[in-house]
Amino acid sequence: MDAREADLREEIVRVMLAMDARGLNRGASGNVSARLGEAMLITPTGIIPADLDASQIVRVGPGGDWPADGPRPSSEWRMHEGLLRGRPDVNAVVHCHSRHATILACAGRDIPSMHYMVAVAGGSSIPLAPYATFGSKALADAVVETLAGRNAALMANHGQIALGPSLSRALAIAEEVEEQAAVYWGTLAIGGPNLLDPEEMTRVLERFKTYGQQAMGEV
Ligand SMILES: [Zn+2]
Repeated sequence: MDAREADLREEIVRVMLAMDARGLNRGASGNVSARLGEAMLITPTGIIPADLDASQIVRVGPGGDWPADGPRPSSEWRMHEGLLRGRPDVNAVVHCHSRHATILACAGRDIPSMHYMVAVAGGSSIPLAPYATFGSKALADAVVETLAGRNAALMANHGQIALGPSLSRALAIAEEVEEQAAVYWGTLAIGGPNLLDPEEMTRVLERFKTYGQQAMGEV
């Protein structure tokens, strides 16, 4: 194992711990991956962040193969693999069941242009991927399709997923998606949001191309 792989394994563990500490996830349900050349590193299935060790991160080869003598990869490895394969601009994927994102996903709602930070997901809304059974190829395909040109999406009756050029960026986007979901949920309790118009969202998206990273507050 080279230094790059060792560093990425440690960083994946840190992201899992951070998701847990920030309330983005509970138990062993979240999963995180990072590109490693032609392969992918991904969290193992069924291990809670507090018990996770860098040696347990699974290296999945380009053919969907992994070492037989180690932990199995997350059941969502196909979803991570499809996103990393289809998006050369993406090096990291973060998936979690953060509460407010999951509330909206269970209610079948995407997040409209009610706040300019919605644009961190790469468009004027945070879209909702259609439901399919967890761990299935159908779910992987639905999420890949919904995320075309986007950085984040809600997943119907399931949770949320965020992408980025780095693990820290993907985590920051997932955290912002949860914040936007909580705000939207709050507005729905008092009559619904006052939406920004499409022209303003176009302006914000243009600004985010240059100022996006500062606006996000990299972690
Ligand atoms: Zn999940």
